[in-house]
Amino acid sequence: MNRAVTVRRVGFLILGVNLGLVVAKALVWYRTGSLAIGSEAVNSLTDAIYSAVVLAGLYLTTQPPDVDHPHGHERIEPLVSLFIAMAIFAAGGAILWGAARALYAGEIAVATGPAAAVVLVGAGAAKLGLYRYCLRVGNDYNSPALVAAGLDSRNDVLTVGAALIGVLGARAGYPVLDPLAAAVVSLGVFYTGWEVLRDNVDYLIGRAPPENLHAEIVKRTIAHPDVEGVHDVVAHYVGPEIDVSVHIEVEGDRTLLEAHGIETEIVRAVRELPEVDDVFVHIDPKELGEWKEDETADRLLEFDSEGEG
Ligand SMILES: [Zn+2]
Ligand SMILES: [Zn+2]
Repeated sequence: MNRAVTVRRVGFLILGVNLGLVVAKALVWYRTGSLAIGSEAVNSLTDAIYSAVVLAGLYLTTQPPDVDHPHGHERIEPLVSLFIAMAIFAAGGAILWGAARALYAGEIAVATGPAAAVVLVGAGAAKLGLYRYCLRVGNDYNSPALVAAGLDSRNDVLTVGAALIGVLGARAGYPVLDPLAAAVVSLGVFYTGWEVLRDNVDYLIGRAPPENLHAEIVKRTIAHPDVEGVHDVVAHYVGPEIDVSVHIEVEGDRTLLEAHGIETEIVRAVRELPEVDDVFVHIDPKELGEWKEDETADRLLEFDSEGEG
């Protein structure tokens, strides 16, 4: 399976990069005592821990369906991502605590050589690359855990920037910038946690898909020449995948064979969207008087995906 192999490979890459960054930052932290670098080391450590969790989770989610899990195991992913969010919040709290304590005590002893700046610039470049790569693969393969890891990498670029300001500021004779930078890093960490939490709670509670995807589903349904209208379109997330049910309005003189053909074609067309899992089609023949106006469907049909940018 292409998806399984690719997603797991990216998981290993994330883990490797994060472990490397933990070592590099911890060494500089040990030699300089810089809180900004220390907070970055903690940040990378939680990244490494959760990338290990993601990897274990990805291994589970890419298992094929079995008797007890007829839909496969993709729905484990949002759950795994929730644990990631918790770990991120814990890391942010630890960093903020350290920074507040240093500011309160007024004991700021920082002696940062060029190694600190070099490590931070390298970390920033690595995370920028990881961010773009994770987001691309995560979107291509519909993997919320990889998207979450990508978002966290983007945030790491910002926190590294803050740490760099702290380190350079301390070198320039303003040591107070060091714990302040650490506090800024903790805010970035909290924000990432919130992003991961928000996206994955949506998956778990069965939110409707984004408007453009919802509209595409309705458009593919009504595109069939025998479908005169649609109503009661329900699409919602079940884990990272979308289940769809829709009523189609069809003339009543069709044979059972024709009706079967219409339904089959619509199910196939909608399931071609990679996010969509199951599609249920209910056929309403005109003569039963169940055709009706559906404002939601009309609105979605008018939705202009191009205008979305
Ligand atoms: Zn109906
Ligand atoms: Zn059939």
